[in-house]
Amino acid sequence: MRKKICLLGATGSIGDSTLGVIDQHGDLFELHSIAAHKNWEKALKIAEKYQVQKVCMFNEQAADKLHQAASHLTVSHGMDGLVELCGDSEVSVVVNGLVGAVGCLPTLEAVRHSKIIALANKETMVMAGPVIRQALQKYPQAKIVPVDSEHNAIYQCLADRPISEVEQMILTASGGPFRTLPLEEFANISVAQALKHPTWTMGQKITIDSASMMNKGLEVIEAHFLFGVDYEQIAVVVHPQSIIHSLVQFRDGSLMAQMGVPDMKIPIQTALTWPDRLPLETGRVNLAEVANLELFAPDFERFPCLRLAYEAGKKGGTAPAILNAANEVLVAAFLNEEIAFNHIPQGIEYCLDKLDDSVEQLSLEVALEADKSSRNWASEFVQRIRN
Ligand code: NDP
Ligand code: MG
Repeated sequence: MRKKICLLGATGSIGDSTLGVIDQHGDLFELHSIAAHKNWEKALKIAEKYQVQKVCMFNEQAADKLHQAASHLTVSHGMDGLVELCGDSEVSVVVNGLVGAVGCLPTLEAVRHSKIIALANKETMVMAGPVIRQALQKYPQAKIVPVDSEHNAIYQCLADRPISEVEQMILTASGGPFRTLPLEEFANISVAQALKHPTWTMGQKITIDSASMMNKGLEVIEAHFLFGVDYEQIAVVVHPQSIIHSLVQFRDGSLMAQMGVPDMKIPIQTALTWPDRLPLETGRVNLAEVANLELFAPDFERFPCLRLAYEAGKKGGTAPAILNAANEVLVAAFLNEEIAFNHIPQGIEYCLDKLDDSVEQLSLEVALEADKSSRNWASEFVQRIRN
């Protein structure tokens, strides 16, 4: 029996890599359903190639266009459509490659239907980590396997050992394109410069997050909720070559690392087949050729987003949801050339400052409400900059 996969974000970068894994293991995996936002032409091509019957286009007009072009497909739209795909009784694995907070409810629905979730959408855990953890306890058959390369590396290093044996998790970061740029030039960073990632090819939002190191900040919070470790046990180290994908230091002093070429097909495949390791056609690291594996401490002054993420994580409650939503709005504004690169951390701080100190017990409703408020505050900040 082939595993039936629902692929959310099929038209994006994680979508491409997931299809690349399915192509190599057609005997094991069958693409059952897909979702995307607006790119219905690409969704149609994927549906035709993989003979998918169910497609959700989040955008209603895109859904209409797809339906007109291919009336044999079952086409849905909006959050209801996404959620319905995740609860489908035929599906056993949901790959969540959506970008942003929109990925949260689909993840939760997949947990509630006891699916295996290969989770790339880190925003889910940042926005509503405690809610997802509670749901996982209630539905013990459900399992989240991280796809984010750092967390997948940690997952592999842990190899199901109890978390009590772990002293520290060390997330590696490439440091992005501005690791050595003089600080006075940060205000003039262009969109094109920020979109040039030195080692990975990814969607626009995560590429900007990598340039500001907010990506690593979000990943610190993601690690906290995925693995249930304290923030004091999560460290970040800058590693420009992106060969070591992360490390776990155990309480006996042993340090385990997972290494490989920077290709998301590796973490996606391990998430789909764990604990088995299957053949995969991709590059191989030639350590003698790499020669130098550099590792540096991160610079919190240069990258205030990383500091803000640690602070929001430690504060808990709604702070991570506020950080995440503000970041989404500000990154979109930067990509639209409405604000400068260094307005991103300023705007996030503006939103976090609006948070009162009472840390609430996070429920889904509270997280969604915080997400909404933060989007309003961040838009207000963008307007102030523009005026
Ligand atoms: P992309 O921008 O390349 O792709 C995003 C995908 O999500 C597209 O299919 C897009 O559809 C779809 N999408 C966006 N908004 C919606 C929506 N409202 N409803 C339904 N679908 C939507 O992003 P990436 O693939 O790079 O990243 C996806 C996630 O994976 C992010 O959370 C990112 O942080 C994480 N991740 C990505 C890595 C990578 O290598 N790319 C590495 C580690 C984590 P459309 O094409 O129609 O817009
Ligand atoms: Mg990552």
